[in-house]
Amino acid sequence: MKYPKKIRTYCPYCKKHTIHTVEKAKKRPRSELSQGQRRFRRIMKGYRGFPRPNPAGREKPVKKLDLRFRCTVCGKSHTRGSGFRVKKFELVEV
Ligand SMILES: [Zn+2]
Repeated sequence: MKYPKKIRTYCPYCKKHTIHTVEKAKKRPRSELSQGQRRFRRIMKGYRGFPRPNPAGREKPVKKLDLRFRCTVCGKSHTRGSGFRVKKFELVEV
């Protein structure tokens, strides 16, 4: 699917519609200092390892997109909804 690089949408920080640049969220390593990651490390340490049921069965063939919208006025970014599944994705100039 084709998606515009720039989009006019609501900015929750400016509290009005502004131009936003669209970007795909980059993968980054988990922060080792966050509470959830510290809890996970502690549970994995001893016997009886993984803290939640391991997902069984097949993986979904297409992952959800994680789009971020960055306001050109205030420079802050936010998300819209929970993303969608597409096989092909490209950002196009309109
Ligand atoms: Zn803004």
